[in-house]
Amino acid sequence: MRQSGVSHRPVPLQPAPLYNPNMSMRIGLGFDSHAFKPGVPLVIGGLKIDHPEGLAGHSDGDLLLHAITDALLGAVSAGDIGTFFPPTDPKWKGADSTLFLATALEEIALVGFKIVNIDCVLIMHRPKIVPIAADLRERVADLLSLDINNVSIKGKTPEGLTQDGTAVAHVVVLLESIKLPDEHRKLALEADAPNEADIDGVLTTLAADTPDIAALGRKLPTFDTDDLT
Ligand code: MG
Repeated sequence: MRQSGVSHRPVPLQPAPLYNPNMSMRIGLGFDSHAFKPGVPLVIGGLKIDHPEGLAGHSDGDLLLHAITDALLGAVSAGDIGTFFPPTDPKWKGADSTLFLATALEEIALVGFKIVNIDCVLIMHRPKIVPIAADLRERVADLLSLDINNVSIKGKTPEGLTQDGTAVAHVVVLLESIKLPDEHRKLALEADAPNEADIDGVLTTLAADTPDIAALGRKLPTFDTDDLT
């Protein structure tokens, strides 16, 4: 387990920008659970954690990255982790879950979206999440190319639940459409656009091309996606 002197105390967010009615947003929800198993490494959020037990799974059992992957895919209606990485396929045995996450990031970029922020809850008795939350946030922020202030990871103990040998993750993610690059605005200004309304028309056309909603959900599961990953 990596040690860090970074405080887990959240840094307050900057004031929200004014509401933009043209901004397209989508929300995604992810869930995963794995049973603890002796003799395997514990990997959470792409970090190897020093703990006597790891999580059983077809892949490396990283429930946090699995839940984030499902939240991202769900936000753009692109199926779930089993759609892309069937647990029946032996090539994903012991797979590094950062690969699953990278694929989900490609999927949301493909349809013109990027992450605004992500909020995660990890539910388990051991290990305690609070002491490692700063490291987890740092690692997940790095994997998602996000500022750490846009990554929240909280730990809960499963009080009243009979799941002592199980780890659970819940994740919610918010996406926004990728803003037009300045080059597009410049091109629009230099085009035959004599007034602001015409410029807006050109920009609207360009914006409509970016988040291709028709591409959403293009990969449909063809089998029961029981999550064994
Ligand atoms: Mg899983």
